Formats: sequence, C-alpha cells, structure tokens
Amino acid sequence: MFCPKCGTENPDSARFCGNCRHELSGTTGGAAGSQNSVVVEVGSKQKSVSDGLKYGILGGSLIIPFIGLIMGIIYLAQGETEEKKDVGKLWLYGSIGIIVFYMIISGEF
Ligand SMILES: [Zn+2]
Repeated sequence: MFCPKCGTENPDSARFCGNCRHELSGTTGGAAGSQNSVVVEVGSKQKSVSDGLKYGILGGSLIIPFIGLIMGIIYLAQGETEEKKDVGKLWLYGSIGIIVFYMIISGEF
C-alpha cells in the first residue's frame, strides 16, 4: 500500500511507512472496506432474488385469474342458459377476488 502522508510504497504487512514512519492504519481499514462491499453485494443479490420470486408469484397469480376472467366473459357472452351465465359470473367474481387478494398481500398496488 502507499503511505497516505508521503506517498511512498510500503509492503501491505507494514504497520509504519518506511520513509516517514507514518502509521499505516489504512491496511485494516481497506480490509474492512472490501468486506463491507462483499456484504453489500450479497445483500443486493438477495434482494434481486426475492424481487424475482415476488414477480414470479405475482405473474403466476395474475395469469390464473386472467384465464378465469376470459372464461367468465366467454360463458357470459355465450350465455345461452342461466346456468352458463352463473358459471361465468362465478369465474369472473372468483378471478377478481383472487386479483384483489394478491394485490392486498403484495401491498404494492
Ligand atoms: Zn510515508
């Protein structure tokens, strides 16, 4: 490492500068700094993984009710019988309920 006072290059193990005897306290500080950056890196990685999981769950949970919505609309549009309309309403309300439920538990909308 380089002496912070006079700029002379010293071995990393040196505690004092060979030129001006300035204490080279930066050695431990540097190690701690690199450790901190590793922790930050791991932290950001964990965050991105949990974000990916969250969006994966969100995506999956939105596709299923989306299919439900389409099914409901198809049943309602065809609507030949009251029975089919009831099934369509069930699909629609069920899928809307699921969407609202996931919106509430995800807490970001
Ligand atoms: Zn020095």
